[in-house]
Amino acid sequence: MPIRLYVAAISILAATLVVVLAQTSDGALLERLWLTALFAALLALQHPFEIRLARRGHGESTSNEEAIFAAMVFLTSPLAVVLAIAAGFAVGNVLVRRTPLKGIFNVAALVLAASAGLLVVEALGGARDADLAAALAVVVGAAVYEAVNRLTVAGALAVAGAAELRATLRDDLGGRTLIVVGNVAVGLLTGLAAAHDLWTLPIGLAAMVALQFALSGHMRARAERQKLADIVASSWDGIVTLDRQERVTSWNPASEALTGYEADGIIGLPFSEVFALMHAESEPVAHSALEQVSSFRIETADDGHRWIAASRAPLPEGGSVLVLHDETARREIDEIRTEQERERMRADFVASVSHELRTPLTSILGFADTLLAHGSARGDERHYVEIIRDEGERLRKLIDALLDLRQLSEGAATAKPDVVDIAELLEEQVERFGERTSGHELVLDLAGRPLVVRGEHGRLEQVVVNLLSNAIKYSPAGGTVTVRGERYDGSVEVAVIDRGLGIPAAQQEQIFVKFFRVDTPDRRTITGSGLGLALVREIVEAHGGAIGFESVEGRGSTFRFRLPAA
Ligand code: ADP
Repeated sequence: MPIRLYVAAISILAATLVVVLAQTSDGALLERLWLTALFAALLALQHPFEIRLARRGHGESTSNEEAIFAAMVFLTSPLAVVLAIAAGFAVGNVLVRRTPLKGIFNVAALVLAASAGLLVVEALGGARDADLAAALAVVVGAAVYEAVNRLTVAGALAVAGAAELRATLRDDLGGRTLIVVGNVAVGLLTGLAAAHDLWTLPIGLAAMVALQFALSGHMRARAERQKLADIVASSWDGIVTLDRQERVTSWNPASEALTGYEADGIIGLPFSEVFALMHAESEPVAHSALEQVSSFRIETADDGHRWIAASRAPLPEGGSVLVLHDETARREIDEIRTEQERERMRADFVASVSHELRTPLTSILGFADTLLAHGSARGDERHYVEIIRDEGERLRKLIDALLDLRQLSEGAATAKPDVVDIAELLEEQVERFGERTSGHELVLDLAGRPLVVRGEHGRLEQVVVNLLSNAIKYSPAGGTVTVRGERYDGSVEVAVIDRGLGIPAAQQEQIFVKFFRVDTPDRRTITGSGLGLALVREIVEAHGGAIGFESVEGRGSTFRFRLPAA
């Protein structure tokens, strides 16, 4: 039903009841006209000082019309009461600038409520006698007035789709009962006293006005409290209040979400205990501090962790409020940045040390070679010089690998890409290694050729050399090493397969980590730097490829890399 139709229906109903009232009650409409005008003016003037009701979602207000209703019934005719209410509300609605439709609805609804209430008072014998029976009749009439008023308002909200009928009727029942009881009591006293002695009327009116102000202040404070509670409940930050003894008195939904601990289990606990419960790393804020910010790490109820920034402020009535802000994301980014920075500094250090080592090493190797070629060293002496040369060579390889890795991680690998035939490269290296080893049989298995990729010839050679030398090095008992080159759809794959020592499953994950070497008794005598595979992976990835392996300890390993075909 459209709201206009509803307002029209209420208006017609109100008019009908007024007609019925006019016929059933006696007393002239304009009897004590000044009194009608006085009450109407009072009602109108109280509009700007309405009493707000605590309702979620939309505002609703009331004024002390029940008091005026109750007082007037004793002093004038029922029609004059209706007139005062109608006029008072009509002017009041203009004063607070309600829309015409709302204004008409307000006046019609209150005329309807007042007429219904007055008809009940009349049916119970009227109130002109101002005795106990009259007082009772007025109380019942006021109750009817209030009930009809609530029903029409709830009906309007339901028709407008703003709220459910029953919810509106139930909403803030306590607050409304307080207002009605206070108003009816003051109205009854004012009416009864003035019916006996009219001079008491100003005292009654003063009481009415004072009550209106007191109630509107009280309800405003309640509405503010409700608003604050809504803000706390919907905040993204955790808001926690502590009493003077540092015990938790409130724990909002965001605190629950941040920590995983529900309010029920936390409220009442000393905050130090809550802190311990979350395994937090530091007391957030010194007790003596008035206002401070600090960060700490907590463990959440579901065993995760979070970084929290907390600020603390004292509350005027004692105790304090803590605001907990989730800093986890920012912290994690900071940690990654710091780690990257540390890694960069480490790499810079290694690179500069390696550079510095190169020059003296070149001299050592040079003189060792000269001594071996032209020197007079014989026997043991010659042997020692050979050791110097071999170990120097090992050191040079290590330094070269370190500098290579550094260069690769800076993205300088594929600066000048050539067309490289992997099949040719494999042939060359298998032949070279075959000449050098006697205990191993090297098998080359090429399915189709050429196997061309784009990249740096020297770097790709390094990959093959490293994998082949590992396969031989880690097969100390000899055996077959198979090198297979194949072409797949859009890529070239190389596999180096040995039947050597294999890699223990527990250490496989770290195999590509710089300086990582498998530590088992059977390979203690095999020398190496732990840089080879790290370098291999950097090169393959810099060429847009991928590397992996399968290995069974004691059975052998297969290292495979794949590069995009040219
Ligand atoms: P290293 O200089 O020690 O050979 P790498 O980075 O080339 O360094 O290899 C890392 C570790 O992986 C080696 O210490 C070795 O134990 C293991 N490994 C590499 N290739 C093989 C393989 N083909 N068979 C068995 N173990 C291997």
